[in-house]
Amino acid sequence: MTAYATGTAEEAARFHELLTSFEGQPAATAGRGKDAVNEPMIRHWCEAMGDANPAYSGPDAIAPPTMLQAWTMGGLSGHTDRSSAYDELFALLDGAGCTSVVATDCEQEYLRPLRPGDAVTFDAVIESVSPRKTTKLGTGHFVTTRTDVRVDGELAGTHRFRILKYAPAARRDKPTVRRPRPVVNRDNQGFWDGVRDHRLLIQRCTSCATLRFPWLPGCNACSSPDWDTVEASGAGTVFSYVVMHHPPFPAFDPPYAVALVELAEGVRMISNITGVPYDKVRISLPVQLEFLRVDDDLELPVFRGNEG
Ligand code: ZN
Repeated sequence: MTAYATGTAEEAARFHELLTSFEGQPAATAGRGKDAVNEPMIRHWCEAMGDANPAYSGPDAIAPPTMLQAWTMGGLSGHTDRSSAYDELFALLDGAGCTSVVATDCEQEYLRPLRPGDAVTFDAVIESVSPRKTTKLGTGHFVTTRTDVRVDGELAGTHRFRILKYAPAARRDKPTVRRPRPVVNRDNQGFWDGVRDHRLLIQRCTSCATLRFPWLPGCNACSSPDWDTVEASGAGTVFSYVVMHHPPFPAFDPPYAVALVELAEGVRMISNITGVPYDKVRISLPVQLEFLRVDDDLELPVFRGNEG
């Protein structure tokens, strides 16, 4: 625990009073949307969200209300209109040891629809700073910023954004946690029996010969419940991958690569890549099956990368 988190209630109240003097001060003023409300951004948003509401296309289209913040975002080049009050507030919190920040939630209110062609302006105000709070992450203050979005001077919506600026809690020693166990059931028992014998078994439909992975009770191609197995050669390539940095899960030590491996037989499976640093994993990297002894009760099929 930092000194800040263990300060007396009186000290905390005094500091909070100082912080509340920022309430009502601007966080950003006279902001302008970089682009007017426009159809391409609406279309990309709807595709990304899978939202096919007909109100968002056609000659009378409106923008999805939840895009409100999108029209105020600075993009990679950012905005230059952050106020000195906001910077001073952050400097005070940093100085007290609240050096970490996490976004907690946002709330929006919609007063009128936005339509292609609307040019958006916005002002943001530091709406509230909470008293000292202690959360699992640490001890600090919630800071709520309200952005008022206008078109032609008329309020179109408000966007409240809340962060926790906090002093991180001291990390406890990690308890020894075992890696999660796979769920073995009658539908995938054969797969795990194969792993025990160091064989990677792929299900094959005996009606139409389609291979399938992961194991399922029936064939997706022809619905037949009848199957046998073929043993994978173990050769494959990385079809796609992610590098896990955060959040940390017990028993895993980030960063590490999680790959979708395409086996030579054509099916894909998710596993870890071994033998190659996480930042050297690449799409199309050749890999070879091996079995990783995790602990006394668990062995897993993983793939050793070959950097060539
Ligand atoms: Zn089939």
